[in-house]
Amino acid sequence: MFVAAPLPSSSSRQVESSALAWVTRLIGARDRRELGQLLRQGVLSWPTVERAELVEQAELLDNTPMPDRGACQCWEMRSEFGELTLLCVWSPPHDSDTLEFIGYLVQAYQHVLRLLDGAERDPMTGLFNRKSFDETFWRLSMNSWESPQHADSGAPMSGRPERRHEDGPPGYWLGVLDVDHFKRVNDEHGHLIGDEVLILLARLMRQVFRRQDRFYRFGGEEFVVLLPSTDAAIADSLFQRLRRTVETHDFPQVGRITVSLGYTQIRSKDSPAAAFDRADQAVYLAKKGGRNRVVCFDTEPALRSTPALPPAGDIELF
Ligand code: GH3
Ligand code: MG
Ligand code: MG
Repeated sequence: MFVAAPLPSSSSRQVESSALAWVTRLIGARDRRELGQLLRQGVLSWPTVERAELVEQAELLDNTPMPDRGACQCWEMRSEFGELTLLCVWSPPHDSDTLEFIGYLVQAYQHVLRLLDGAERDPMTGLFNRKSFDETFWRLSMNSWESPQHADSGAPMSGRPERRHEDGPPGYWLGVLDVDHFKRVNDEHGHLIGDEVLILLARLMRQVFRRQDRFYRFGGEEFVVLLPSTDAAIADSLFQRLRRTVETHDFPQVGRITVSLGYTQIRSKDSPAAAFDRADQAVYLAKKGGRNRVVCFDTEPALRSTPALPPAGDIELF
């Protein structure tokens, strides 16, 4: 792996050696969460920095979490896929050594973020890939599905936070989306137009879902959504909203398409495969019921009696 260490020869010895030490640590980050933590620690290690926070811009604009803008400087950091994060640093203004040091770290952060994005994303739609889904699933399940407020939904998502926990206890939900009759799109308009539809579909998902939600392309015309900390009524309304948004969207050249969705609440000791399998059974029923519909595994009588995959502890992985 190659990361350009942005160190011009004019920099002072202290800036140079400190920045180099931290750039080396950033390169070792395993995921974007760890990368963010390392960046913050690195900035805080500089003697004149009092406080450093990483803030998603949507949150910043909504809640204005900067009490003292006088001594605060912000660096904008954009991922390859357009997500914006701000690094807010409280330090004496016009301190050129501090600015230089933080500037190096921000550049290194962006280089490493790009490399991490490449491993975690589907290159066509920019959505997270299946490997990233499995990792997030296990990380959330380690934090326990029963206490979602402790879980970290990971990378910044589009949109603003939504009111949650309104009726009954919140849960985690996994939804699977499959495009209806997608073969016809390819057959009638060609594979390139089919690809364009998938890219636009990913964009619609970004509009419908919220910052704390995560969505993935699993391959082909199949997508997965992970909703943390949401009650059943909101989960259902989000999936219905996505279905309606797609149904009413005009796709250039293709016109209208529809999608079928299935979803399920994630259980303690679930494995990604077991939860996916339940949501996929619900998709199957949605297709059988005429397509362009949303089915919940947990409330669908025809599905609740079907045997689901055993929980994680009962699966032999190797
Ligand atoms: P159904 O409503 O039952 O889901 O019908 P369908 O035609 O969507 O059925 P199926 O899931 O079997 O077909 C999926 C098609 O998606 C087959 C394949 O040609 C196409 N496909 C898979 N990946 C891609 C891709 O990356 N780009 C394009 N353009 N097409 C893809
Ligand atoms: Mg399919
Ligand atoms: Mg399909």
